[in-house]
Amino acid sequence: MTKQILPVSAIEKKLKEFRLSGIADILEVRIKQATDEDLGYTEFLGLLLEDETNKRSENRRIKLYRGSHLPYEKGIEDFDFTFQPSLKKQEILELATLKFVEKKANILFLGQPGTGKTHLSVAIALQALGRNKTVLFTSVWDMISQLQQSRADYSYYKKLQIYLKPDVLILDELGYRSMAEKTVEDFFDIVSKRYEKGSIIITSNRAVNEWDKVFIDKTLTTALVDRFLHHCSVIEIKGESYRFRKRD
Ligand code: ADP
Ligand code: MG
Repeated sequence: MTKQILPVSAIEKKLKEFRLSGIADILEVRIKQATDEDLGYTEFLGLLLEDETNKRSENRRIKLYRGSHLPYEKGIEDFDFTFQPSLKKQEILELATLKFVEKKANILFLGQPGTGKTHLSVAIALQALGRNKTVLFTSVWDMISQLQQSRADYSYYKKLQIYLKPDVLILDELGYRSMAEKTVEDFFDIVSKRYEKGSIIITSNRAVNEWDKVFIDKTLTTALVDRFLHHCSVIEIKGESYRFRKRD
């Protein structure tokens, strides 16, 4: 019986069918390398498996980053701590170790616009993504609108899962607008369902004792603040906006 030799293109096609595109993509290069460098069969196969592993972890990384919806990628190394002397760098570095994520604890960044609240949230989120944690960044307003819309088409519980699933949920810009009574309940739902189950990072330009102006209902505000602050690092940035800094 004559042996049938599959052409490389047919092997690549088969590999893709088997969902081994990491190998398929580089097969030709590796075959040439094996010939040129006289590689053994084991070595050749080992290289291919490593290619597949690398491609898979890269895909996972891309998926995590895309799914996080971060507005930009700025790290702690991009943050000028000398510009915000009220901020303890050590405290931020401690948060960046992500122990708070393990403890399902929260972070609250308080400060005027432009003081770096979003930047620091993003920086911590990048650390989390680097360790294969799932992150979702959303403005408070966006989340509330999404949840409200979902009530209209009865997909509320499905939508809720989007905000309950990630290891870290970043709720940006609390306090710019007051919420309608109906939406406050949705917000409360998220905070209480994530309580001791998953971390939340909130950024706000309003002190906590003014949150009843945002959430309107005083009783609900107390219950909400109580849960959110129970395990929470509060980082207050008392300083100028970085946007108005004097450049030299
Ligand atoms: P906030 O969320 O508090 O309104 P941002 O985090 O959006 O402010 O900061 C506004 C802009 O200034 C962003 O581009 C951010 O990267 C930058 N920024 C703020 N503070 C600093 C800082 N201390 N060092 C470097 N960049 C900063
Ligand atoms: Mg911001």
